[in-house]
Amino acid sequence: MERVYIGLGSNLDTPRQQLHSALEALAQLPQSHLACHSSLYVSDPLGPADQPRYVNAVAALDTELQPWALLDALQRIEQEQGRVRKAERWGPRTLDLDILLFGERRIDDERLTVPHYHMHARPFVLYPLAELAPELVLADGRALRELLAACPFTGLERLPA
Ligand code: ATP
Ligand code: MG
Ligand code: MG
Repeated sequence: MERVYIGLGSNLDTPRQQLHSALEALAQLPQSHLACHSSLYVSDPLGPADQPRYVNAVAALDTELQPWALLDALQRIEQEQGRVRKAERWGPRTLDLDILLFGERRIDDERLTVPHYHMHARPFVLYPLAELAPELVLADGRALRELLAACPFTGLERLPA
């Protein structure tokens, strides 16, 4: 079993409901156990500003799946929840599921970059992740605490449970 952290995001079609549905789908994944998830947060969009704010969370999954099989499963869940892939980068979407960390692994191939290439600079990733694993140290030796210290709680709002 390896511990995986997954970043969830949605800014279309009742985003909070999208996240709840996605968490249910994660809980159904084979050879996996959904251990816990963070609070939900509302965040300012990356990229094009003329889109709704996002709802984000981070989930912790313990899994026997290999990273590429997990990515397949996450992309299937995105599609089942109506994600339409467009040319525009970081455009609005019903659901985004990103693998943030996969155990201690470092992966860099045409499908997967793990740790997620930009997690260290995203408040909507780091703050929810810190709820689950405040003592976390990344495979490259960077402590989550240090990343948080360099990443202001800006454009972010934690939703009550
Ligand atoms: P960002 O990666 O900046 O958060 P995004 O999540 O909107 O942007 P997507 O359109 O969801 O990007 O994914 C584009 C591609 O990223 C996917 O086809 C997938 O193969 C690749 N990818 C690379 N690393 C990861 C990862 N750690 N988790 C999920 N997808 C990844
Ligand atoms: Mg993403
Ligand atoms: Mg993605």
